[in-house]
Amino acid sequence: MNTINIPSKCSVLIVCGDEALCEILKSALAQRMSITVCASVNNAFTLIESNNFDLIIVDLLLSDGSGIDVLTFAKRRDEFAEVLIIAGNATLESATAAINLGAASYLVKPFPMSDFLASIDKMIASRIFHLKSLSIMRQADLMAPVVKGHINDITSLYYFTNKLMLSLEIAEVMRITLEEVNSRIGSGFSSVGVKLLNYSEIYSMPAAGELDEKSLMPFFAEYRSRAFPYFHKEKFNDDSITLYTYKGRRGEAVNFSDLKCISYPLVVIGKTVGSMSVWISPDKEIEQSVNQYLHILTSVISPVIEHVYLDLQMRFQSKTDNLTGIANHRQFFEALDREIARASRKRSSFALVLIDIDNFKSINDTYGHQIGDGVIIDLAKRLTANIRTGDAAARYGGEEFGLILPDTDEVGAMTLTDRICKDVAAAAFVTPKTKLKYTASFGLAVYDGNNPISKDALIEKTDKALYKSKRDGKNRVTVSDL
Ligand code: GH3
Ligand code: MG
Ligand code: MG
Repeated sequence: MNTINIPSKCSVLIVCGDEALCEILKSALAQRMSITVCASVNNAFTLIESNNFDLIIVDLLLSDGSGIDVLTFAKRRDEFAEVLIIAGNATLESATAAINLGAASYLVKPFPMSDFLASIDKMIASRIFHLKSLSIMRQADLMAPVVKGHINDITSLYYFTNKLMLSLEIAEVMRITLEEVNSRIGSGFSSVGVKLLNYSEIYSMPAAGELDEKSLMPFFAEYRSRAFPYFHKEKFNDDSITLYTYKGRRGEAVNFSDLKCISYPLVVIGKTVGSMSVWISPDKEIEQSVNQYLHILTSVISPVIEHVYLDLQMRFQSKTDNLTGIANHRQFFEALDREIARASRKRSSFALVLIDIDNFKSINDTYGHQIGDGVIIDLAKRLTANIRTGDAAARYGGEEFGLILPDTDEVGAMTLTDRICKDVAAAAFVTPKTKLKYTASFGLAVYDGNNPISKDALIEKTDKALYKSKRDGKNRVTVSDL
């Protein structure tokens, strides 16, 4: 009988060029594990090839390549190798990429030793759980099919939950879920529809091939009602549902309209927030055990889905100004960083406009703060109404606004800004009680990708131009002459 040896002492490979860090990690683990250390991608490949490491700890930045290469190599050799990535600095993209490639965890330097040890404990538990499951599955011939099937379900659910917990993005959570469901139902396609917070979305994935969104559209009303069977019609009085589709594995997609649909509600603390649906051929039935599995799967994903949407909303709100709904200070300066990088790379130009409402103190004093707020909202609306998609408008201070106009030269930016300035001065801000005219001053500077300057220097130039507009009598646009 082919049994699996469950190690009493896990074997660990540490791949890291930083000797001091290696020593710290090694001494933290040495007592309970057998440890091998190397400093390069190439050495790691050779060692992984000839050993069965339970755990691999790998630095993202190595002298001869990336830790991601080690992760990919290790996972190709043993899908259930537990790999911990250590990064010098991390972006959401790099963390997501590592997790998608199967990393068990991701730590950003400097990290507390307690975080490292907690990750290691989880990885060991996971590895031993896997080896035990594998050992039992290898003896499965001796088991009754129902026991074998049940153990298989428990193990799959465990691996699925592990992957799910590491997903940082809603699109990833949905992809992992739909892949799992498709592999369970065997044919057709599956979808998850969510109606939560301000989001109404359907994510779909065929088991094979691509879902042709255009050909799906004629069925959309029907599809929508089947993807959201637990909601009353009146919950969808607006039709703004976003549909996302993923590719299935290689092959031909089945015709959606020929399939029957079976749905499972997503429930969070007694509240239905969406549903997961599987489409199968009408002559097929879902086996009872698969049916149970899908019910349990939806219980697992529901709170995770609620969490990622709450996170999405929080991230959105942290970048949006509460009063006007346009970008806030943080998002404005992040967008400015991105635009400077893009214009420098492409050697293109963009315009920055800073705007300050004139005599705003006296508007507040005369009409009160509420009307003052109304004026701020009014200006935000006029700015967004006048710019193109791709341009950005933000409220970066109390009554101070900014525009970023990509791929725009001085003449273009001047034309647009002048039009906004005149538009603001011409049309009064009207409320049921008051009708008040106000003006704003504008400063404009163009960033030239052929002649890069720092963000601070660009802001200073633009601010000086704005200040000149104020000095020259307000209600005007000044172009920086620096
Ligand atoms: P100037 O023409 O030189 O710009 O004069 P100003 O009166 O507009 O002066 P300044 O720009 O320094 O004043 C900004 C004022 O805007 C101060 C503050 O009381 C008011 N303010 C800032 N944020 C808000 C807000 O969110 N709502 C309201 N109603 N007032 C605000
Ligand atoms: Mg001001
Ligand atoms: Mg002002």
